[in-house]
Amino acid sequence: MNAIQPLIELQEIDDQIRELEREEKDIPRRQAQERARLAGVNASLASAKEELDALRARIKQAEDDIAERREKVRQMKIKQTSLKTNREYEACSMQITGIEQEIESLIARQIAANDGVPALEARVAEAQKKSDADQGGVDDFCGELAERLSSVKEELESLRARRKEATSAIAPNFLAYYERIRTKRWPAVVQLNQECVCEGCHLVQPPSVQQMVQRGGTLVACTMCGRVLYRDSEF
Ligand SMILES: [Zn+2]
Repeated sequence: MNAIQPLIELQEIDDQIRELEREEKDIPRRQAQERARLAGVNASLASAKEELDALRARIKQAEDDIAERREKVRQMKIKQTSLKTNREYEACSMQITGIEQEIESLIARQIAANDGVPALEARVAEAQKKSDADQGGVDDFCGELAERLSSVKEELESLRARRKEATSAIAPNFLAYYERIRTKRWPAVVQLNQECVCEGCHLVQPPSVQQMVQRGGTLVACTMCGRVLYRDSEF
């Protein structure tokens, strides 16, 4: 058997581990992204509701102000009948007219505010619908991601056990070299192709390297990138 074969097998396991570790890191990020999006949807619902509440409060305030002024006018008109002089009567009439003008402008404002209600109500309803729909969708999606995450963790656990087993079949000096180079280069073990080129960095290797790779039995590294070189037996 090719002396490098156990390293190639280890690299295959490491390749799967790397892939799964990436996914393991990525899943919480995707969940957070989904929740942030939902928070944005809920924030626009909250702001539409706030606007509607504020508008209704303004309408209510105008109603109260109108009622208060009407009551005042009613009492003044009663009082007016008992006034003794013309001057007093005229002064009271002027006051009443002033208040009635205030009532007119309050009514105008109230009508304008009322006109704004249906559009805001529609906005709230639409935002509520979107929030309800997204809430379910995000919950489902985050649930699926959580399930995937737990199976990724299980797969990783079993791959790490397989890795431990695989390393025991490798000569310590080969393994030490591989462990060092794999942190800098990936894949760490590559073919020396028929043109005598390292398939990691694409540099042509000197004939001595080619001879050593062909002879086998020793660990031969690319003179440029340091990757472990091997050659398929069919070449
Ligand atoms: Zn190379």
